[in-house]
Amino acid sequence: MAYDQEKKVAMEGAIAAAKLCDRVRGDIPQAIEKSDKSPVTVADYGAQALICKALAEVFPDDPIVGEEDATELRKPAMGATLTKVTSYVKEIIPDATEEKVTTWIDQGNGKVGSRYWTLDPIDGTKGFLRQDQYAVALALVEDGEVKLGVLACPALNLSETTGILFVAVRGEGTIMMPIAGGEAKRIKVVSKDDRDRFRFVESVESGHGDQSRQNAIAQAVGITTESVRVDSQAKYGIVAAGEAALYLRLPSPKSPDYRENIWDHAAGAIVVEEAGGRVTDMYGKPLDFAGGAKMMDNQGVVVSNGAIHDQVLAALQQ
Ligand code: AMP
Ligand code: MG
Repeated sequence: MAYDQEKKVAMEGAIAAAKLCDRVRGDIPQAIEKSDKSPVTVADYGAQALICKALAEVFPDDPIVGEEDATELRKPAMGATLTKVTSYVKEIIPDATEEKVTTWIDQGNGKVGSRYWTLDPIDGTKGFLRQDQYAVALALVEDGEVKLGVLACPALNLSETTGILFVAVRGEGTIMMPIAGGEAKRIKVVSKDDRDRFRFVESVESGHGDQSRQNAIAQAVGITTESVRVDSQAKYGIVAAGEAALYLRLPSPKSPDYRENIWDHAAGAIVVEEAGGRVTDMYGKPLDFAGGAKMMDNQGVVVSNGAIHDQVLAALQQ
């Protein structure tokens, strides 16, 4: 099968990172403020260290475009935080040191190229801090096309299991399985006749979208129930598993010029597409994973079961 080795390394890395995040979550993590004011935690750093280490060992020539970097963490004032990150990483890699951990994290400072990985070690850090949903999101991109996506959602409950791993390979479909191990199940988006599951999902954070417009569009395409609010790319997993028909992320009126990051969408997008769904921006354009870390030519994101996609795009034109 295609991408077998990439899939194995990515799945193992994401599972190890998910375990670290779950451990930190149980200890009630504190937010550290980044220079752009967004929050980061010891788990974001630890998860990035684990995954970059795993990828760099097997694919030393592949750039990794990760959300975090260790510049702040190396500052003397952050000494106690680095010690904490290292102690969590050591639970999984016993010979980790502070020096090694910062080196691994900085392996995620790669640039978008013809073949690269993109990583959000914790997508939905705000949800993580609230003890809500979050995801470890890792994708492999070649020539601008996502080829492999792995999405670990440690707090997500589906089919009576908490902690779900989604894995998609281009052309081979999407599976979900318990992070703790167990049977892998092929998943499909909701069919156009299954109206009971015609829910829509959106962010918890009102500043990450335009909730009033999102609700109006959902109603315009016949979704009558209230939105389900979920943090992180877990929203993509929910659509892929057929638990919702639509995920809308329209530009917030407070940040109309916001551009989306590739690591916030690459893994989720292939998970939905390989489950039979469709992903575009709000104008129907494919998401651009070739241009750089920010998708400068895309605005808003529309994720659907495919069947209702054109109807959603038409409603957005009005
Ligand atoms: P979610 O959990 O779906 O609300 O998305 C979390 C992601 O939202 C974070 O990873 C950020 O990169 C991203 N984000 C931050 N500010 C904005 C914004 N103004 N509009 C849309 N997304 C944002
Ligand atoms: Mg993110």
